Amino acid sequence: MDCIFCKIANGEIPATKVYEDDTVVAFNDLEPQAPTHILVIPKAHISSAAEITEENSAVISHIFEVIAKLSKDLDMTNGFRVVNNCGDWAGQTVKHIHFHVMSGRKFTWPAG
Ligand code: AMP
Ligand code: ZN
Repeated sequence: MDCIFCKIANGEIPATKVYEDDTVVAFNDLEPQAPTHILVIPKAHISSAAEITEENSAVISHIFEVIAKLSKDLDMTNGFRVVNNCGDWAGQTVKHIHFHVMSGRKFTWPAG
């Protein structure tokens, strides 16, 4: 499968990784929308949030444990935003589930 985030997960494509374990990797977004902008992905390919099932959801809860750890390690004490774009109308451009973790500035709601 020609998936850019699978290739980042297995090291075929370089990325600035800020966290990695057996099932999850976190790396800096190429086009940051905030001073801190990290993408957290499962190493196993799940195409979107619409494809989460009982069988593969353990890694998703683990991702949120990793996000909590990163928020402390990377000093996001004033808050951070977690975003998942799912599907075309939401603007999902990479079809490997990923969670944007953004911090370092204030965010508006419901826009950016
Ligand atoms: P989305 O639009 O939610 O699918 O987000 C995809 C994100 O992946 C965008 O914020 C891109 O800037 C980011 N991105 C695409 N290719 C790379 C890459 N090779 N390394 C890091 N981030 C990337
Ligand atoms: Zn993939």
